[in-house]
Amino acid sequence: MKRGVLIVLSGPSGVGKGTVRKALFEEPDIDFQYSISMTTRQPRSGEVNGEDYFFVTRDEFETEIANGDMLEYAEYVGNYYGTPKKFIDQTLAAGRDVLLEIDVQGALQVKEKMPEGAYIFLTPPDLAALKERLIGRGTEAMEVIDRRVSAATAEIRMMANYDYAVVNDEVSLAVNRIKDIIKVERLRVNRVLPEYIKMIEELEA
Ligand code: 5GP
Repeated sequence: MKRGVLIVLSGPSGVGKGTVRKALFEEPDIDFQYSISMTTRQPRSGEVNGEDYFFVTRDEFETEIANGDMLEYAEYVGNYYGTPKKFIDQTLAAGRDVLLEIDVQGALQVKEKMPEGAYIFLTPPDLAALKERLIGRGTEAMEVIDRRVSAATAEIRMMANYDYAVVNDEVSLAVNRIKDIIKVERLRVNRVLPEYIKMIEELEA
């Protein structure tokens, strides 16, 4: 069975990763799975446990880490965020593509373990717009916003570690760029090669 493609959507906080990811999954022709992250932060209003995140306590999260059940995790502005490993392994092994929407620290950890993935860096059109967006969300205190902006500028430098850069100037445009990337990724020789090798071996047998 051909393995699924791992797609990692990442980028600085406030760039709009969550918005772009949600818009992507609203497209009618999306046939990949979303990896639901685990976090210790409090749910925001409207967020649903098991849909937006698995919301857990610090103790529960640390148990997952100790058991080796996290593919990656990061501590971000005082909370843990991480990707449960089992879902990723099972989905890819079943030949289905899976998308992770995670921060830069997490994406770099995943890349160490799974370099065959497609690593997409979502960039802000400019830093002023990034700060506007963080303030505009209106759910965070000013001190938290300042910490998030300085984390973001350091993160933008990490773009060098990714395969693709997608500007989030407009959500619908960013979504289309990501869809194009996924189409191209599925055609990479290293993804289709095993099938051809098998075919050749059968012909030669
Ligand atoms: P928020 O609190 O705004 O939902 O997320 C804060 C940051 O954590 C965002 O940059 C988001 O992409 C990132 N994040 C969400 N899930 C994960 C995860 O599983 N792992 C890591 N490393 N970061 C995550």
